[in-house]
Amino acid sequence: MYIDGRWRPALGSGTIDVLNPADEQLIGRVPAGTAKDVDAAVGAARAAFPGWAATAPAERAARLTALRDELVARHEDIADTITAELGAPYTFARKVQAGAPIVVAGTYAELAADHPFEERIGTSTVLHEPVGVVAAITPWNYPLHQVVAKVAPALAAGCTVVLKPAEDTPLVAQLFADAVHAAGLPPGVFNLVTGAGPVAGQALAEHPEVDLVSFTGSTEVGRRIGAIAGGAVKRVALELGGKSASVILPGADLARAVTAGLANVLSNAGQTCSAWTRVLVDADRYEEAVKIAAEAAAGYVPGDPRDPGTRLGPLVSARQRDRVRGYIERGTAEGARIVTGGPEPVAGLSRGHYVSPTVFADVTPEMTIAQEEIFGPVVTFLPYTDEDDAVRIANGTIYGLGGAVWSADEATAVAFARRLRTGQVDINGGRFNPMAPFGGYKQSGVGRELGVHGLAEYLEMKSLQF
Ligand code: NAD
Repeated sequence: MYIDGRWRPALGSGTIDVLNPADEQLIGRVPAGTAKDVDAAVGAARAAFPGWAATAPAERAARLTALRDELVARHEDIADTITAELGAPYTFARKVQAGAPIVVAGTYAELAADHPFEERIGTSTVLHEPVGVVAAITPWNYPLHQVVAKVAPALAAGCTVVLKPAEDTPLVAQLFADAVHAAGLPPGVFNLVTGAGPVAGQALAEHPEVDLVSFTGSTEVGRRIGAIAGGAVKRVALELGGKSASVILPGADLARAVTAGLANVLSNAGQTCSAWTRVLVDADRYEEAVKIAAEAAAGYVPGDPRDPGTRLGPLVSARQRDRVRGYIERGTAEGARIVTGGPEPVAGLSRGHYVSPTVFADVTPEMTIAQEEIFGPVVTFLPYTDEDDAVRIANGTIYGLGGAVWSADEATAVAFARRLRTGQVDINGGRFNPMAPFGGYKQSGVGRELGVHGLAEYLEMKSLQF
């Protein structure tokens, strides 16, 4: 545990084994924290809060710049660790998994320095003050990005933090704590408690000294966190699941849209909350699209993520692999057609939690595989008759996180995007903008991450009336 500026043993004796999903070998062991450890960490964060909240924004910016530099210095180590504990392919681990957090930390170093933490509204002065002690509870699919997307804005705002990372990927969180330490943050400003969700995670969310719970993970646990926060009237931010649609309008470059859509899902073995797991194609070009997808999927041969040539690694755990296989079987049982892939073990790979890239055709909107988040390398193709039908299908799930629209005419794509009930739409492929807000409509969540809107989640407002 990293508490109050130093590494210290857990108060209990339980541990969590960390396994490499590619070969199922033990790669680490971390303490399974309990409510007592959480209490110690929250106590340290509470004690550090007044001092950190009172630091000049320029000083917070300097510490965040140092933190970004420490992440840069550890880039290789971080990427290798994410490959080892998550199974993210070598190149993807470097560019995205370890690369994006550096960019995000940099944006918050700048925002901490530049943000107007005071504004004048008529006769009042409005102070934007830190919320207080933040509980950050994160999942395993982007194990550093999701940590930085919470911790960096919290620190920029002047909050102090207790992080509880996912059980499957705690090692990169430990590297992050080392980076925080090296960046010279005052003791107690950032604290790390590893442990099981229902034990350490729940104790953290329930702790009365926690002012804001920022959670990313499943919608199921998100509902519980929301109920806890509602009951205690504490602030909450939820980044939950998705079932995003990629809508290919008539006249769009079909091959480009289909191959880019496949890459979007398969790059992290389908374990991306905003992945475009439903591809909507007009009925005229539907079969052609499915054929292109099957051919493109052949380029994603599951293999060892440490190999720089691998484009599709294993799933994070046996539990996730079994869950994904179950969904594939359910798809077939409900009448969808497997074009390529399937639930069977991948030939030639006797160890590791691999699933073949799987493309489903003849999918109807009400099928389970078109409604529920599968979180595996599975893409569903749904035909639509006209634009209204496409809007209806795209909006027809409990989620609203990401999405894509493809058209030969950008204005047409934008007009279509306005009709989607979702937090992000990529127009003709889109591109990552670390300053743009990310988050969900509907049951995909509450609140936004990244940029100035992500910073606002960690600020309270106080009006001084004159
Ligand atoms: P999860 O929601 O169980 O875990 C996310 C985090 O919450 C982890 O740190 C976990 O320890 C913690 N947690 C679990 N139970 C808790 C509780 N009762 N109180 C407080 N914290 C708790 O997610 P998972 O089991 O890792 O994955 C299950 C499914 O969730 C996936 O298959 C996928 O569909 C979805 N998921 C979504 C995202 C996302 O980014 N939206 C990320 C991971 C998983």
